[in-house]
Amino acid sequence: MLNQEFIDSLKQLVGEDRCTFSPEDMVAYSYDANPEKRAKPEGVVSPLNREEVSEIMKLAYRYDVPVTPRGGGSGYTGGCIPVEGGIVMAMDRFNRILEVDKDNFLVILEPGVVVKTLQEEVDKIGLMYPPDPASTGFATIGGNIAENAGGIRAVKYGVTKHYVMGLEVVLPNGDIVKTGSKCIKDVAGYNLTELFVGSEGTLGVITKAVVKVVPKPEARRTMTATFSTLEKAAEAVSAIYATGVRPATLEFLDRISVEAVEKAIGFGAKPEEGALLLMEVDGSDHALDSEVEKIQAACEQCGVITFRKAESDEDREDLWKARRALSFALCEIATEWEDDDISVPIARIPKMIRKLDEIAERYNIIIANFGHYGDGNIHIGMTTGKDGGPFPKQAKQDVVKAVVELEGRIAAEHGIGCVKVENLHWNIDEPTMKMMRSIKALFDPKGLLNPGKVMLKG
Ligand SMILES: Cc1cc2nc3c(=O)[nH]c(=O)nc-3n(C[C@H](O)[C@H](O)[C@H](O)COP(=O)(O)OP(=O)(O)OC[C@H]3O[C@@H](n4cnc5c(N)ncnc54)[C@H](O)[C@@H]3O)c2cc1C
Repeated sequence: MLNQEFIDSLKQLVGEDRCTFSPEDMVAYSYDANPEKRAKPEGVVSPLNREEVSEIMKLAYRYDVPVTPRGGGSGYTGGCIPVEGGIVMAMDRFNRILEVDKDNFLVILEPGVVVKTLQEEVDKIGLMYPPDPASTGFATIGGNIAENAGGIRAVKYGVTKHYVMGLEVVLPNGDIVKTGSKCIKDVAGYNLTELFVGSEGTLGVITKAVVKVVPKPEARRTMTATFSTLEKAAEAVSAIYATGVRPATLEFLDRISVEAVEKAIGFGAKPEEGALLLMEVDGSDHALDSEVEKIQAACEQCGVITFRKAESDEDREDLWKARRALSFALCEIATEWEDDDISVPIARIPKMIRKLDEIAERYNIIIANFGHYGDGNIHIGMTTGKDGGPFPKQAKQDVVKAVVELEGRIAAEHGIGCVKVENLHWNIDEPTMKMMRSIKALFDPKGLLNPGKVMLKG
């Protein structure tokens, strides 16, 4: 229960219109995109500027109130859910792009800016912000930085951490720190920027960011290739990489996913097609035709069944149709799916898929795999089907073990949050975990900032 003195002080600090304690509002802040985890806060505050964030943090520290930062609430692992109560700090008012510095390829912005807004703003002047999660329309830059979000262009352009040059962060004790700079080369001091990137709002509240942008590629080409098995598709990926071509996007659908989409929208898949690759290359227009030719030759060398190239924007949309229709198509198989987001070294994707097939057989469940082949990131959907009864939870643990056996990571781009917190030890050994706990304690000695996330208390 929040102390009345704390509530009164908070109201005084930001005004009654920017904090709420009503039961209805608490429900609205009790969830994110994860279907299972729910926890209501006891209050929600929407600060306007870093000074207010700092004062709120100091107040929360004085009264021992947990604070959970929240961006767009689109996380898949419960990162913004206040599992230990306290207040949610909604960052939606931090929604300004402060400076677009075209000459230095930089943008300075507040964390509540929706990613698509940033992308559209720089696109107008021939620039591109490459991180491109499927949630760009509603996820915020702050949430992307806190999660080190990935997306479909990571294979060529990297993930969010590759674009964050500097941060302004309010620490749990209210101190305001600045990390990094506008300089590409910068070894002045520890790389604290990268410590905050991916820290899931557990070390500080981001109030400003300097991000890097790149010249927008002149053109792009889109292709799909189908194969009888994922092994064949994997051979093709190796052959493509051997040509020296680096696709910007290299997505895949496995047999169950292909069949589900074919059943749902009939995109023309043949029964023998058990894997689909969706690829895009981008760069200067004149170079792309030769890249497409190399990719096509590599696919043909590996037994491609159908190779399609987009000749127009309309064709491109058509080729993307199968990938975009996937979530909806899987709902035809079952409405309840246990999702996972893992990564393995890319050459081990076929091995990982074989292990997943074994798990499916062992527990008599359906497993659909799809995702970002080019960077080893598999999104796994598991279900017992429409009439299949309760999901065997042990299957999820078997997935974790399989990931670890292949030296993969139990979280690729959706974070640990509170959903995977008990499994982190599979990837992080005890001495390393101890170091992480010490870092957390240094920033947040009372453990009040986003508690219950990333790692268990020691
Ligand atoms: C349909 C859909 C598709 C998605 N596709 C992708 C994808 O392709 N790739 C991908 O990587 N993810 C994807 N996601 C997951 C999600 O969008 C990302 O994790 C995103 O980064 C979350 O941003 P958010 O603003 O919604 O953050 P929230 O969900 O609100 O919060 C996420 C974490 O960030 C912290 N946080 C938020 N703002 C701040 C701040 N200012 N300071 C400190 N901490 C903060 C929160 O405490 C929490 O721990 C998808 C989600 C959905 C629903």
